[in-house]
Amino acid sequence: MNEKPVDIKKYLSDRVLKLEESPTFALEKKVDMLDGQLKAKGDYVVRFGIGQPDFNTPDNIKDAAKTAIDQNKTKYTASTGIKELKQAIVDKLARDNKLDYGLENIFVGNGGKQVLDAIMRAFINPQDVILVPRPYWVSYTQQVVLSEGIPLEVDFNDLLKIEVVHLKSLIKQYESRIKCLILNSPSNPTGAVYNLKELKEIAQICVENNIFIISDEVYEKFIFGNAEHISAAGLGDEVKNITLTVNAVSKTYAMTGWRIGYIAAHQDIISQMTKIQDQSASNPCTPAQWAAVEALNGDQESVEAMRREYEKRRDYIYNRLNGIDGIKCSLPEGAFYVFPDVSSFYKGSVKNSFDFSSELLEKAYVAVVPGAAFGDDRFVRISYATTMDKIKEGMDRIEKFCGSLSR
Ligand code: GLU
Repeated sequence: MNEKPVDIKKYLSDRVLKLEESPTFALEKKVDMLDGQLKAKGDYVVRFGIGQPDFNTPDNIKDAAKTAIDQNKTKYTASTGIKELKQAIVDKLARDNKLDYGLENIFVGNGGKQVLDAIMRAFINPQDVILVPRPYWVSYTQQVVLSEGIPLEVDFNDLLKIEVVHLKSLIKQYESRIKCLILNSPSNPTGAVYNLKELKEIAQICVENNIFIISDEVYEKFIFGNAEHISAAGLGDEVKNITLTVNAVSKTYAMTGWRIGYIAAHQDIISQMTKIQDQSASNPCTPAQWAAVEALNGDQESVEAMRREYEKRRDYIYNRLNGIDGIKCSLPEGAFYVFPDVSSFYKGSVKNSFDFSSELLEKAYVAVVPGAAFGDDRFVRISYATTMDKIKEGMDRIEKFCGSLSR
């Protein structure tokens, strides 16, 4: 039988057709395939691509989920989370971030990514502007696009942090069309951490111009040297009123697949956003919520052990990268990424960060994410959430690869 061809695209929304594929997830797919082929030859890809802890979820957390399942805690819950988890989040915010919230201020969803998407849906009318400081995590801009808003990129300074002069000029230009600014400290992809003075300056600008702050703090526990994590909402009531603090258990407790993220914000925002959760997700996975209760309330030693390990890796990789002729790399103060400038190698067949990353993958079997995906083509992102042995091997391969390129 001859099937009549259907032009599927005619039926799909402009929104979805315009949406870009996630570069981190796309790379994973490619790397999985290549890795499978290499295994047969006794080789493998060094995975510096997707940012996900190489550690296992701690046993106490896994046990809490097993117990929840055995106790048949497997049904629907309140759409924005069980009260035990909201209480654990309230306690965590008070203990770690000196933030005073009640249960009515908490929204739990399916990971940091989904709660951010819910925020975009709650705030954006078509053509509203969201300020997205470069370099940014890959999904921020696309989530804005999916909600039919405009992601407006803010330039960065020498420290890879918001260029305040540019921020002010964008505010002047776009004024009331701007709804929110995304703040991400520690930053994915740069590892930059905002200090008190920098945060105060930006928060003050937001207060004066009625711009909400979406403060993505998912890497807060991975901070190195003398750096300190400061929650924007802790800067005083004026700032707290306009801040949505976003966090998740994914990175802190090596729980990426469990999908539990949360928001703390003004009660009126949370109550409106609850409708989104009711109508779209029902609730975050029930046993995963119980696991998250244990993660937040239980022993925190595993977090510090991971932090120490990440710091060792950061030091090693930073030194190795800066030892390579042609690479410039600033010292990240947090998260588990480095963001080296490799643009001096853009010659011949390597014209940009996509070419650099593809050739590195195809010729040296090392996966990194092109900087263009984060808003700056000079860089590539390296995730060091992998073992020290793999990091050493990966750095040897990168060094050799760079040596083979002309500059
Ligand atoms: N946030 C991680 C990353 O940047 C996980 C992948 C993703 O969600 O994009 O690699």
